[in-house]
Amino acid sequence: MAKKQVKPVVGSELPLGAGASSAIHPRVFQHTVDQADIAISITDVHAHILYVNPAFTRVTGYSADEAAGQNESMLSNRTTPPEVYQSLWQNISRGESWSGRLINRRKDGSEYLAELNISPVVDAGGEVINFLGMHRDVTAMHRLQCQVKNQKELIESVVDAAPMVIALLDVDDRVVLDNHEYKKLQADLGMAEPAPMLMTSIRAGLEADGALGRGSSGYAFLDREVRLDLPGGKPTRWFSCSGTRVREDNSAADAFFAGSGRDYLLLVAKDITGLRAQQEKARVAALQAVMAEEDRVSALRESLSAATFRLEGPLNMMASAAGMLARRNGEHDPMVLALADAMAGGQRALSELRAMIPAETREAFGSVNVNELMRDVLDLATGRLLAAGIRVSWKPQAMLPALQGHPNKLRALFKALVDNAIDAMSGRGWRERELLVITRAQLGSIEILIEDSGPGIPPAQQLKVFEPFYTTKREGNRHLGTGLAAAQQVAADHGGTIEIDPAKAPGCRVRVVLPVKRRS
Ligand code: FAD
Repeated sequence: MAKKQVKPVVGSELPLGAGASSAIHPRVFQHTVDQADIAISITDVHAHILYVNPAFTRVTGYSADEAAGQNESMLSNRTTPPEVYQSLWQNISRGESWSGRLINRRKDGSEYLAELNISPVVDAGGEVINFLGMHRDVTAMHRLQCQVKNQKELIESVVDAAPMVIALLDVDDRVVLDNHEYKKLQADLGMAEPAPMLMTSIRAGLEADGALGRGSSGYAFLDREVRLDLPGGKPTRWFSCSGTRVREDNSAADAFFAGSGRDYLLLVAKDITGLRAQQEKARVAALQAVMAEEDRVSALRESLSAATFRLEGPLNMMASAAGMLARRNGEHDPMVLALADAMAGGQRALSELRAMIPAETREAFGSVNVNELMRDVLDLATGRLLAAGIRVSWKPQAMLPALQGHPNKLRALFKALVDNAIDAMSGRGWRERELLVITRAQLGSIEILIEDSGPGIPPAQQLKVFEPFYTTKREGNRHLGTGLAAAQQVAADHGGTIEIDPAKAPGCRVRVVLPVKRRS
């Protein structure tokens, strides 16, 4: 490097500009710059060094004497891109300051990353006469920044590749960070955010178990099972969810001493659908057996009830005939006595028949997931649906609030409605065969719609079909017409309603509304 012929200014010969304050002795400036913990150099307009402070010597290894008269380019490692120098010179030549990072080389040949600021020094006429350079070695800080960035990228790629749903939630259940599996689940849910759904179910479970944490900073939980019913006929999915509290320190300057921070919840949801599917298969098989038995008992109950209902008619007629005869011929007339005998026998038979009606099984009240019951009913009806060539559209709300009820009775209610829909569409030559089942949460209740594309129910019969023993079917005694009456009773027992939507034509839409919390 060629040494230019300039008169170096070193140490105590530091030149002071016109702006030096008269209130402070020039030596104070001298000492301040000398003792500053940042490498300071002053150059002429061609970057030839006139002055360096001791910190410059500490950083670069060049003494003041060695540096004086040299061009600042002696510090260049020759690996900084030329565009950086171009931008540096463009700025400082215009009289503007420049800040940036350069790769420098010390006297001993070692490299370091310099964070440099150059400010032009102008004379009274506004002309640049010197440059003031200040730089420090930021190699360690850069290494740290790279480590943090690499670590962040590593963590992000591990989290992204993890075969489980991971999301970081703020205190309002808003997703701050998520992974690939989370996004996949979101797509399966029709772009609805999965985290609030999972958290609603987890909280309900924690609350039911009395394990819901107090305090505003969230809570941790382990292996909480959550069921998600996906739209579009996709299979139900099960997740085992765990939550860990994470605290982030506030990096704002004003929080340096206060030490405040923000709380997050790291939600990890492991898909256990495969495991649950096996358990579900076994459960549905057991349920099938139980429901077949229940069907048999309820058919027996219906037949016996119908028989007693039909016997009551002739007995009533006999009673009125006996009354008329008794008024005309007297109470001791042999015909009246014979009728009274026959009636007493009839009443005894009726009582015996009534006694034979199997009692309804008492069922405990509990927390019920309507989607689960409806899914059971559709699973159990799969054979019939396939045999009848019925297309099923199952549109459950992904996350329904649980309601308090009798699961078996409610399942029987839904089964009666689905069976009716299948029957309605199974008529010979009927082409439109589509069953639509929708569940959705409304204000304080759950609405279940069961819609078929069968011939429908004429408006005049839409109320009558709920009367006991009323049937629109003409297939002998197979249908007694008690299904809808019983279904209505179950809905009423749960504080709900069931109705046929008069607006639906063609086809039939039955709407069941069940309150989430029962009014006592
Ligand atoms: P150079 O031949 O010096 O120049 C490279 C580019 O800069 C070319 O495009 C050229 O046109 C332009 N250029 C050079 N001199 C001028 C000029 N006088 N006017 C307009 N354009 C010009 N460099 C470091 O590597 N490390 C440092 O720590 C450092 N500190 C500096 C501190 C100060 C106060 C100043 C003024 C400059 C500093 N420089 C530093 C820049 C240094 O002077 C060199 O420009 C740089 O090192 C590149 O050197 P070079 O020999 O590769 O190329």
